[in-house]
Amino acid sequence: MFHDSYHAPDQHAQTIGPFLSLTRVAYFSMEIALHPKMHTYSGGLGVLAGDTARSAADLELPMVFVTLVSRKGYLRQTLDSEGWQQGDSDPWVLQDFATPLRAKVSLPINGREVWIRPWLYVLRSPIGHDVPVLMLDTDLPENDPLDRSITDQLYGGDAEYRLRQEIVLGIGGLRLLSALGFANIKTFHLNEGHAALLALDLLRRFPRPDDQVNGNDLRYDVGPVRDMCIFTTHTPVEAGHDAFEYELVYDLLPDYFELDQLRLLAGSEKLNMTRLALSLSGFVNGVAQRHARTTRSMFPGYRIRAITNGVHLPTWAHRAFAHLYNEHYPSWGLEPEVLSQADQLHGGLIWDAHAEARQDLVRLVAEQTGVELDPDRPIIGYARRMTSYKRPELLFTDIERLRAINRQFPFQVVLAGKAHHRDEPGKRHIRNIFGHIQDLAGDIPVAFLPNYEASVASVLVPGVDVWLNTPVPPMEASGTSGMKAALNGVLNLSVLDGWWIEACLDGVTGWAIGEDGGNGAARASAEDLYQKLEQAVLPLYHGDREAWIQMMKQAISKIAPIFNSQRMMRRYAAEAYVR
Ligand SMILES: *Cc1c(COP(=O)(O)O)cnc(C)c1O
Repeated sequence: MFHDSYHAPDQHAQTIGPFLSLTRVAYFSMEIALHPKMHTYSGGLGVLAGDTARSAADLELPMVFVTLVSRKGYLRQTLDSEGWQQGDSDPWVLQDFATPLRAKVSLPINGREVWIRPWLYVLRSPIGHDVPVLMLDTDLPENDPLDRSITDQLYGGDAEYRLRQEIVLGIGGLRLLSALGFANIKTFHLNEGHAALLALDLLRRFPRPDDQVNGNDLRYDVGPVRDMCIFTTHTPVEAGHDAFEYELVYDLLPDYFELDQLRLLAGSEKLNMTRLALSLSGFVNGVAQRHARTTRSMFPGYRIRAITNGVHLPTWAHRAFAHLYNEHYPSWGLEPEVLSQADQLHGGLIWDAHAEARQDLVRLVAEQTGVELDPDRPIIGYARRMTSYKRPELLFTDIERLRAINRQFPFQVVLAGKAHHRDEPGKRHIRNIFGHIQDLAGDIPVAFLPNYEASVASVLVPGVDVWLNTPVPPMEASGTSGMKAALNGVLNLSVLDGWWIEACLDGVTGWAIGEDGGNGAARASAEDLYQKLEQAVLPLYHGDREAWIQMMKQAISKIAPIFNSQRMMRRYAAEAYVR
């Protein structure tokens, strides 16, 4: 589970020396989920970065991870009695986990020198391999008070604050690696566009001789930079791609890069970080097949490959399932392929492990919300960032219909999710869900768990019977929580989008909501969801437990061996890092 096995060794043993000559690949991510008490992530992107680091440690890949310290975290969600999110920062104690390194670099932002110091966190795999994580910090006495706060709040503040963070991450991070003495890094992996300025900083090293440049040409040689940079894009949602006004860019970074040149690389209107990363990366990928296709149509002219995301299985298996897998397939953590035989496990063992996971969730829900779940009803789980394109209220579209289904086949629901500080519609979805909870009281038990984060996910996801996902296709780039569900024998009921297109065998590994109409044309309405619940999911749970357990086995054995981060990192290593 997320708490247990992967953690920093004794902090006094944390030194950078052993990694300096060994490391070949630097992975840059604005957020990364390393430990439940380190609030350095907000959601899926950070969990993916954390699972990437855990697999890198397991597989002994020569990588360093670079991120911000995010001293004030992202958002601690509490909910008032009506369901309005009271979002506040979520500080954590850096000194308890990381060691400050002596190196320091400075760069001018908005005319002031900003000093940056890295903290070192060493992530240790239980197999015994370590990977270093550098967390960049500007909270230093030599900095102006405004600059001291740059690395405080993940995804906080306005565009200017965000750009300052991205300057520190991309440019500061690159320069710190040199200052620390990482001498053999040949590959920079940009996890999302936030660190794209790194590639621009590299490009400054490769001006072309004047006599080779005509009028409007780029006066730099992108070839060597493309050889070094790998870019993974993570969302087809427009708001997910940072774009900064050039005026702001030149306020913060005057005399850094010629404007006419930057427009050629990053877009004529605004500095689009995705476009910049696309222009300067020799390997670009989306995070599922469908997402790569969608990205190709958003950004024509680039070669966009697909490496489908995966989850780190030892982190996301409930302890009861980890125990079961340890007994039958001792190498499953490192070699998840062996789980393809899990369909041969005795059904009773799977059901018992599931019952244990479910019990943990029942306890957590009672503690946190006061809702007593019913032992005889299946639990439908839903937890996402609360935002409109994920349609968190799709299930509640027709309350009377829901009641009618429940009279025939009783069920119950547990939900969770944070809305971003600035996402007012997202906050309204949570409040509306509180309204639905009251409407349905007495008929259908529905609970909303506050403060969805990885430690909550590690109880919620394995503890339900059905994991629901209802995005508007093709907006879900990949999704990973459904992979965590399948690993624990939880059946996915999901719109065909992201990773689920690749994993869904309807009625075998889980269920599809609606149909896949191809690129963007998919149909997935509330009616489709109700039909599937009423005609397939709930009758099977109540009517044929043997067949249900058979599906749990199919979900585990057909999904876990593929949709895991060991496979994902072997692919990055073989296809992207070695070129
Ligand atoms: C796994 C996980 C996610 C990713 O969820 P998806 O919506 O399926 O991509 C987000 N947040 C937390 C806390 C997680 O553990």
